[in-house]
Amino acid sequence: MTKVAIIGAGLSGLSTAHLLKDYAKVFLFEKARGVSGRMSTRRAETYFFDHGAQYFTARTQPFKDFLLPLLNSGVIKRWNPRYVIYDDIEIIEQKNWANDEPRYVGVPGMNAVTQSLADSLNVSINTKISSIQRKNKWELKDETGRCYDGFDWIISTVPAPQVLNLMPKSFIHHDKISAIKMLASFTLMLGFKEELTLDFEAAHVTNCDLSWIAVNSSKPGRENGFALTVHSSADYAETHINDEREEIMQHLISETSRIIGKDVSKANFKTIHGWRYANNDVRNKSFVFLDLNNKLAACGDWCFGGRVEGAFTSAYTLVKAMRESVF
Ligand SMILES: Cc1cc2nc3c(=O)[nH]c(=O)nc-3n(C[C@H](O)[C@H](O)[C@H](O)COP(=O)(O)OP(=O)(O)OC[C@H]3O[C@@H](n4cnc5c(N)ncnc54)[C@H](O)[C@@H]3O)c2cc1C
Repeated sequence: MTKVAIIGAGLSGLSTAHLLKDYAKVFLFEKARGVSGRMSTRRAETYFFDHGAQYFTARTQPFKDFLLPLLNSGVIKRWNPRYVIYDDIEIIEQKNWANDEPRYVGVPGMNAVTQSLADSLNVSINTKISSIQRKNKWELKDETGRCYDGFDWIISTVPAPQVLNLMPKSFIHHDKISAIKMLASFTLMLGFKEELTLDFEAAHVTNCDLSWIAVNSSKPGRENGFALTVHSSADYAETHINDEREEIMQHLISETSRIIGKDVSKANFKTIHGWRYANNDVRNKSFVFLDLNNKLAACGDWCFGGRVEGAFTSAYTLVKAMRESVF
């Protein structure tokens, strides 16, 4: 059977593995100590923080079909917050997502989705792939020098800028991928002893240094500690990516207090996470990066406009192209 190595165990790597597993022997390599990538959840004290993806949509039939077993088993549930849009400190739109298109979350954390997908797969965690070379077949080397060989195909699912360092120079899509930009983001996580009374549980924020504020504890299964998750704007993160984390945290805390009109500096748990490659700068393009001669491929949310559904669609489209031409 064809042997395939997939680098990265975020949603696109895990989806690729599931969609390929009837056609090939699939092995995943993940640098972090767990699967999930940007669908991670942090647990601290009694609080749950989805510090990457906040929720996701399922607009296409293939993604709906893929999610159905997870919905049926309760790993995914609908999140129905009161939703607002802020223009700086002014609320300019309000909706209840219970009456809108479904937004889904993993239960009890976003990473429940990816952990459930990983259950039946062969994943090597704590394994950062640092080089790929062609011997008789493809061989991967991790940062400790350990080799993994005998692969017919290599599929990278890491963020676009990291593909360029990882994939061999012979990969025919290098130039196209080098034109794809990804933007940074900071996530502020705040845990409180007392609930705050707010006009919303989910808020997009425009025209300031924030882009999003959520009552993370309003999502299903996370009710045991009032928690806010706040994202910076991409502009702020791109400008301040190398600044001191403490300074950034203080700024995002005061911005949050200013926007919602409540002092959040008294939170009893505070931390911040920086994402170098959070999202695409361009959302309306789609690509399939398949190199049939070299038996190399790349996919990821950045091939399909970013976002969780884009990560799945990228995997789905790549595997469809491989099934038509390879298997
Ligand atoms: C702050 C933030 C908020 C977001 N909000 C939303 C939202 O509300 N809704 C939405 O739909 N999307 C959101 N997104 C985007 C969403 O999280 C991503 O689109 C999706 O999770 C990407 O999945 P992926 O598998 O393509 O990439 P990733 O999740 O980044 O997976 C890539 C994996 O590759 C691993 N890796 C990298 N290099 C190596 C290496 N050398 N060796 C081994 N492993 C490696 C990484 O550790 C990672 O696990 C958000 C993202 C961020 C950061």
